[in-house]
Amino acid sequence: MSAQKISFIEIPFGELNKLDPDNFAFGKSFTNYMLEADYIDGEWKNAVIKKYAPLLMDPSTAVLHYGQAIFEGIKAYKTEVGDTVIFRPDANYKRFNISAERMQMPTVPSWLFMEGMKQLVALEKDWIPNAPDSSMYIRPFMIATDPFLGVRPSQNYKFMIILGPAGPYYSAPMKILIEKTYTRAAPGGVGFAKNAGNYAASLHPVELAKQKGYDQVLWTDANEHKYVEEVGVMNVMFVIDGKVITPSIERGTVLKGITRDSAIILLREMGYSVEERNLSIDEIVAAHKEGKLQEVFGVGTAAVVSLIAKLADGDYVMDFDVEALKVGPALKNHLNDIRMGKVVDKHSWLVKL
Ligand SMILES: *Cc1c(COP(=O)(O)O)cnc(C)c1O
Repeated sequence: MSAQKISFIEIPFGELNKLDPDNFAFGKSFTNYMLEADYIDGEWKNAVIKKYAPLLMDPSTAVLHYGQAIFEGIKAYKTEVGDTVIFRPDANYKRFNISAERMQMPTVPSWLFMEGMKQLVALEKDWIPNAPDSSMYIRPFMIATDPFLGVRPSQNYKFMIILGPAGPYYSAPMKILIEKTYTRAAPGGVGFAKNAGNYAASLHPVELAKQKGYDQVLWTDANEHKYVEEVGVMNVMFVIDGKVITPSIERGTVLKGITRDSAIILLREMGYSVEERNLSIDEIVAAHKEGKLQEVFGVGTAAVVSLIAKLADGDYVMDFDVEALKVGPALKNHLNDIRMGKVVDKHSWLVKL
């Protein structure tokens, strides 16, 4: 198999599974086919779309020990007129290669990431559930595959894309604890990269928050724990006195979310003023005391917009009447309308297959 070509190994018809619309679980159900390619001798090779199957790995495989692993999360939708579209995959492709460089991994060429993804999604488009607000979750990822225990960048890597159906993502309004002990990301670190270790490191603090009755934490800056960064694995937006404020990405500690970017553009078009800047917990608490803190919500590919019902700074608890929220729900509707082809996609965010 030569480079720059994706081969196809067809599954015998009798072995194909079909989407069971009443019986699938996000993150657990996957389509028939996956894409796989290997980086060997400085080149991407063996690109193939074939049957979804387990990997066989040597126990010394580098990724299992030192965690050179990155991923992306993208969604494909079926529009009202039946087209299959992928939302801003070019932005995910760019970010994937930024993550790769930070983790000293090879970048992935467009013929493999973009064309491979389009071919795979086109092949599996019937797995997008027909129910409203459903989608197909696309998970590209890369792992280090050298069977070697020395600490150095691996020389061989595997790139894969797997797909799974996703139903309408209902998330109950969240209860959030402001985190002032643990850190998600530090300046000079890897917070801007979608690398596996970031998620492993976040699990323990979130578990401690759950024991106190919260769903997630609001991460604050590593130096002083004074400034807002992200909520769980989403970017975060505050509405204070009619203005939308979201943490700036300049320090490299906030992941540059594509939903965040889309939200900033749409909110401005909807007439809101949006500020990207440092936002301190003191400013949030002061705004709450003056009755000016109107909304807090998370934004990310999985849930699109996640409303927040409770935000706690230690013993100081800020409650939000979820029924009365305006900005978060309006943003969610607008984004969903674009994805479903109900309003004009004037930024050309949808890539049609
Ligand atoms: C993926 C991710 C986001 C959201 O990014 P989207 O591109 O909008 O999905 C935000 N924060 C973290 C830590 C993430 O991993």
